Amino acid sequence: MSLRLKFNLVLAGVLLLAAAGAGLYVHRFLQQQAIEEVHYKSQIMMHAAMAIRDYTTELVKPHLDVTLDEKFLPQTVPAFAATETLRRLQTRFPGYEYKEAVLNPTNLRDRANEWEERLITDFREGRADLKKEVTGEVGEGMHRAMYVARPITIKQAQCMACHSTPAIAPPTMLKVYGDQNGFGWKMNETVGIQVVKVPMYFPLEKARQTFHTVMAVLAASFVMLFVGLNLSLSSLVIGPMARLNSKLEDLATKDFLTDLVNRRRFFERLEAEMADTRIKKGSLSVVMFDIDFFKRINDTFGHDSGDVVLKSTALRVRELLRSSDCAARFGGEEFIILLKETPVDAAMAMAEAVRARIAGTPFDAVGHVSASFGVATWDHHEDSHALIKRADTALYVAKSSGRNCVVQAQEAV
Ligand code: GH3
Ligand code: MG
Ligand code: MG
Repeated sequence: MSLRLKFNLVLAGVLLLAAAGAGLYVHRFLQQQAIEEVHYKSQIMMHAAMAIRDYTTELVKPHLDVTLDEKFLPQTVPAFAATETLRRLQTRFPGYEYKEAVLNPTNLRDRANEWEERLITDFREGRADLKKEVTGEVGEGMHRAMYVARPITIKQAQCMACHSTPAIAPPTMLKVYGDQNGFGWKMNETVGIQVVKVPMYFPLEKARQTFHTVMAVLAASFVMLFVGLNLSLSSLVIGPMARLNSKLEDLATKDFLTDLVNRRRFFERLEAEMADTRIKKGSLSVVMFDIDFFKRINDTFGHDSGDVVLKSTALRVRELLRSSDCAARFGGEEFIILLKETPVDAAMAMAEAVRARIAGTPFDAVGHVSASFGVATWDHHEDSHALIKRADTALYVAKSSGRNCVVQAQEAV
């Protein structure tokens, strides 16, 4: 697995985790904020209803009660005042509702529906705490709303004037509402609930959109981070590392003077090509050569001129090789060439061509230089060292046969 792939896998994992964590947190936070906002609005509405009720009881009722004998004015009833006032909000704020739902109301408009009846019963039967509000959700989709309900418990004796029996109720009231409903209430009885409904759809929708925007910005930032880190990785790590690696590779495998491969890399190549040749049942040869009287060149023209001869020899060899061949500096003034898919005759011809190329043209500053050659073709059984040993022995024979010549190695025994 490449360094970049590993890095990107780790980075992608970290970014995905971060996105999931941030997404979860932001989603929860926005939902909670939306719900808190709705709850706050429901509190304002409930308190507005309470304020209207108090206002009616304290400032309106005393003035209008004097007309009670002649005419019953529902405006004096706190529940009526709160319901009527907040009902007017609905045209401007649809979905915001306030109701004083009662099991047995004087005004049938206030009769509790099935759902409200259940809440009232919870208060009456002690499943809900009379001292606390009950909050919850009702409806779905666009109609999803938060409700807050408070019990209406009869605490004031003056309530009984209108709600105990028709006999003591104001006749003007009976004239408006009749004598069938809203009677029989008892002191300390929970007769109904004040219930506020505030729509949740829009705050939740706003939270959802904010969440999507935050996640899109986060994703865009992560993509930029991803690209930025990858570019940095390329320019700061992978690029320099590749250059360093290639330098190390050169140091480990190349001969710095001639730029040919070194002995170590030559053996690696030879082993690989032997395996390939074995599979293909082909032929493979090596040509080993050593510059003649090189010590004399050094001694006569200096070590630097000797180096120039080594470099020039490498260049001359390269000119003659095919791209599939491999020439190496084997040591000192000794070279070796690997010839792929080359039987002995072709290898001998190649060695002869190299010999002629070296000996044929004088070298700058030092004049004529020659080399002696040993050629061995792999017998498909011996190992690489045995093959090279045979080429070296042939080279030794060439030296002792007067140098500047090519000798074919003995067959392996
Ligand atoms: P022969 O024909 O028998 O091969 O004789 P020779 O003089 O070439 O062989 P010998 O082994 O006596 O000398 C090889 C010389 O090569 C000795 C050594 O100083 C020289 N030599 C080895 N490596 C280098 C090198 O990198 N640069 C230079 N200039 N000389 C080198
Ligand atoms: Mg020599
Ligand atoms: Mg030598």
